[in-house]
Order: sequence, then structure tokens, then C-alpha cells
Amino acid sequence: MRYINRLVSPVIFIVVLTFAQVAIAQKSALKIDHAVSLTDVAKQQFHITTDIKNIHQPQLSLSLPTWAPGWYTVENYFKNVLRFRITDAKGAVLPMRMTKKQTWTIDTKGIEQIRIDYDYSATVLGLNQAKIASDFAFFTGIELFLEPVGHRDVPSTVKFQIPAGWKLISALKDTPDPMLFTAADYDTLVDAPVLMGSFDVTECEVEGKPHYFAAAPAGVFNAEKSKRYTEIWGKTIQAQSAIFGGLPYEKYVAFYFFMPAQSNASGALEHLNSYVAFSPGGERSTPEGIIGTGSHEFFHLWNVKRIRPAEMWPYDYSRENETPLLWVSEGFTNYYGVVATYRAGVTTKEAFLQRAADAAAGIEAPRLASISRRQIRRFRPGPDTTRRSHLVSHITRRGKTSRACSTCRSGTTRAANTIWTTLCVRFITSII
Ligand SMILES: [Zn+2]
Repeated sequence: MRYINRLVSPVIFIVVLTFAQVAIAQKSALKIDHAVSLTDVAKQQFHITTDIKNIHQPQLSLSLPTWAPGWYTVENYFKNVLRFRITDAKGAVLPMRMTKKQTWTIDTKGIEQIRIDYDYSATVLGLNQAKIASDFAFFTGIELFLEPVGHRDVPSTVKFQIPAGWKLISALKDTPDPMLFTAADYDTLVDAPVLMGSFDVTECEVEGKPHYFAAAPAGVFNAEKSKRYTEIWGKTIQAQSAIFGGLPYEKYVAFYFFMPAQSNASGALEHLNSYVAFSPGGERSTPEGIIGTGSHEFFHLWNVKRIRPAEMWPYDYSRENETPLLWVSEGFTNYYGVVATYRAGVTTKEAFLQRAADAAAGIEAPRLASISRRQIRRFRPGPDTTRRSHLVSHITRRGKTSRACSTCRSGTTRAANTIWTTLCVRFITSII
């Protein structure tokens, strides 16, 4: 009996403590529901409503990001916000004060729920901007959604209201309602692009998971091209999955604009389970022509979105996040993006070597501009082992000098150069 008492008492204590912790957690967990409506396309404004319930704290701060991860420029998104107001459950306007850059604080003593609503002017098509055009609209959550400070891990929902006849695709988690999506936390919410309006979607399944290729405007990248792209993209995805042992998401979306961006935020940008890319369109845009970008951005879902410099996580959305390690994020991705298309059988050995040679030549330029490109291009694979050793020694030797491995947004480091060329040489020597 004494034995039982000794055993039961701690068990009861633990059970009571557990229930108490659950009760506290339930009491403190906010309920966050966003609504994004687009009713007047000509005005080029989204209307955002955010309902926050279960507030049990004397003050609550709300913050809008100033920059988008992956595109490292400060944009101060609040400059696009109009008619910003916060009301209580009865519709009374609550006074707010700016307590930090793009951050507002309200007193919530005795107030358990609030509504924030505002318009967002969406006039620029870019990787880190929002745009409403006559036949489509696009944004990424980072531009539109407020963070209830201190509640970053809280899930939320997003409900859309869009013009009649428009379609919508989002990287957010689907629900049975095609206009309702969920996000597991704030970082996931703001990392998800949304495209609505007129566009084409081609779906393919890779390792049992749905992958969507969304192309805008509709009809520009025809059905035959889209089908071919999803075929070679799927093989590339499988090649990358083999490196990491599986795909760490439920669905993936590639957003492609076959039109020019309206800012310098062009090119392509990676997200957790999606990427956004611009391509010129027309005859120059072919499946084989855009797969390089697709492979690169897809590799980023690991390298920079899930494997990243410590300084970058958790993101501080209020200011620049500095790190000396972007060369790892970009340089390694540059390399593996190319390797994956080769392993997938999408790129021939000759094409791979050409790209490697071009990259090496780019690294050496401009110091070797007069000789390197011509020299390196001479060293194609062939029976002549002298050629191979010359290629290897050339890249290795020159790789210890000068410029960074990455062509997109990375810092310039000697180490990056050396690592890239080492990887490159190892792979080249394995296939020649
Ligand atoms: Zn990149």
C-alpha cells in the first residue's frame, strides 16, 4: 500500500500538472484567421481582414515584415498599406501606437478579440512584391500579413474572395474548401505565394506527392511545353530527393511568369514548398531552357530554406539579417542544381560539362577573360586523358583564386570558389 501511495502520488501530480499545462496552452493560444478579398480589380488593392481571438495579455503588438527572405532588400511593406485600423469585438476603434519599425501596440486588457483590417496597394509585379492586373493577381504572404508578436508558432487560416471566373493556387496547405487554406505557423504563412486569375496549371505526381506547374498568362507556355516541363522537372526532383532521402513537404508549386517583372526583383526566388520565376516567354522559353532555374530553386528548399546560416533563423523580419555564409546557400545550390539535371538524364554529359566550363570561365573572368573561356571550352570529354587532366588541373588551380562561386546574390569569397571547384572537379572526373 505504501508502495502504491508512493507511486500514485507522483502520477497524480504529473497528470494534474499536464492538464494544467494544456489548459494554460489552450488559454494562451491565439486563434488567427485572415481573409483576403479582391472585389475591384481596377483599384489594384487587396482588402485584408485579420481576426485574432483568445487574447489573454495586457498588450498585443502587431508587426509587418520589411523584407522577404531570399531577396535581401528592405522594402518596408507598410508603405503599401491604406486605411489601417484595429477594432474590438463591438467594432470600436482601438488606439494604437508605433513601438518599433512597422510595429503597432494596442492595450488589450479585458479585450479578448480584435479585428485588423486594411487595404494593400498591389501595383508592382516582382518576386518580392504584390500585383493586381486586369486578368491576374499575385502576392506572397510576407507583404500582406501581420505577425502578432510573440505568437509566431500559432497556426492560422486564410480565406480568399476573388472575382467570378478566376482561379487560385497557393503554396499554403489545402482544405476541402478551395478558397480556404491553412498555415502551420507565421513563417509558413508568409513564405507562401498566391496566384489568382487566368493561368494554366499542369499537375504531376512525384513520389506520391502533387506538384503543380502554374504558368501565367494563360496560353503562353502551351500544354505540350508544360507537359514536357513537368516530365523533366519530375525527374530532376527525384534526383534531388535521392540526395536527401525524400521530399519534406505535402505539395509543391512552381509559379512561372512568362512576362517581364516590373522591378529589379526578377529572375527566381525560392520558398519552403514553392518557387517563383520569370521567363521572357515566346519561342525562347522552352522546357529545357527553364529547367536549370527550376532545378536550382528546387534545391533551395533544402539549402537555405531548411539548411541555413544560424544567423538567418529565426528570421528577423524587421531589419536586414546579415550572414557571411550566403555563398554556401547559393554556391552549393548552383552546383547541385546542375548536377541534378545531369543525374536525371535531362542534361547530357556534354551540356553539363559545357555549363561547368562556362561557370569556371565566369569565375576566372575578367582576369583570364582573354584566354580562359576559349581554353576551357577546348577541354571537352574525350579519350584523350591529357585533356581531362588539363581540365581538372586548370579548374583546380584557377579555382583557388579570385571570385565567388555563385552568380546570384552571394558574397565573394575565396573559400566558396575552392569548394565549388572541388565539387565540380570531383563530379567531372567521375563522369568523364
Ligand atoms: Zn539561388
